[in-house]
Amino acid sequence: MFKDMFANDSSLSFEVFPPKKDDEFENCYKVLDSLSELKPDFISVTYGAGGSRSKKTVEIASYIQNELHTDAMAHMTCVGSTSEDILAVTRDLEAVGVNHVLALRGDKPRDMSDEQFNQRVFPHATDLIRFLNENTKLDISASCYPEKHPEAMSMDSDLAFMKMKQDMGAKMFISQLFFDNADFYRFTERADKAGITIPIVAGIMPITSTKQIGSTVTLAGSSVPKKLADICARYGESPDDMRKAGIEYAIDQIRDLRKCGVGHIHIYCMNKPKMTAEICKSI
Ligand code: FAD
Repeated sequence: MFKDMFANDSSLSFEVFPPKKDDEFENCYKVLDSLSELKPDFISVTYGAGGSRSKKTVEIASYIQNELHTDAMAHMTCVGSTSEDILAVTRDLEAVGVNHVLALRGDKPRDMSDEQFNQRVFPHATDLIRFLNENTKLDISASCYPEKHPEAMSMDSDLAFMKMKQDMGAKMFISQLFFDNADFYRFTERADKAGITIPIVAGIMPITSTKQIGSTVTLAGSSVPKKLADICARYGESPDDMRKAGIEYAIDQIRDLRKCGVGHIHIYCMNKPKMTAEICKSI
């Protein structure tokens, strides 16, 4: 996948989440059918922080890979996992022909005690990456944070751990969502100086409802620039206008990134194929 993707200067990929309930799979498959018609370079599938729903991630990634013949990337978190758990998920993925993972630490799950969190087997994504590199044949990607990870002491320390991820075997980074491209440009410049040589894919989340700001965006720790805050204030009470303005904002972000030489874009598409299609036709 890496070879094909980075042979070109640009790529487009999507992130989806697996269904929470068993009876939601059919609908999720329909969503994936529509997304694959947009011919993404790959589709990534999220993973529950505690690992309890890993089978659903594998099932959805398998559908993407084997039924839609689109490259699938499975997210994998280690915060609640032992080495055996990680090897078991690896076997499940390999059995269905999915060989690319996004290796993450994950956030502390709600049902995990502080003691369990402090004694976790894999303290950081770097430990998972090293383990996967030494024990599996998986292609490994990792996360990065244009505005630094909320727990990081400084941008410099975050960049040093990012370099460690690369040294441990990560072949590509996908960035946390951001709304101000200037943050991303500053970040990639610093990453370059810190010795990051592998591709950094820009993560874009279209904001189509103000609720997203209160949930996903706050959790991610991304800042909301005045322009986007004004859009939310102006159209917050009018869902159709908010959706339209949010999609336009994402399109402008992507166009500007591409104009400035950032070719690799990952859309956090929240299982919304219509919105994703609207963006794809305008970038
Ligand atoms: P780490 O890289 O371990 O970083 C966490 C903190 O520890 C940072 O402050 C970092 O600077 C520091 N650090 C890193 N390495 C070391 C080290 N060796 N020693 C000391 N400190 C270190 N969450 C999910 O639950 N499921 C998903 O599917 C999911 N997908 C995501 C996809 C993307 C593209 C991104 C950006 C995030 C995703 N997340 C997901 C959220 C992610 O799990 C959280 O942001 C989590 O808090 C950190 O995970 P990480 O892998 O970035 O952690």
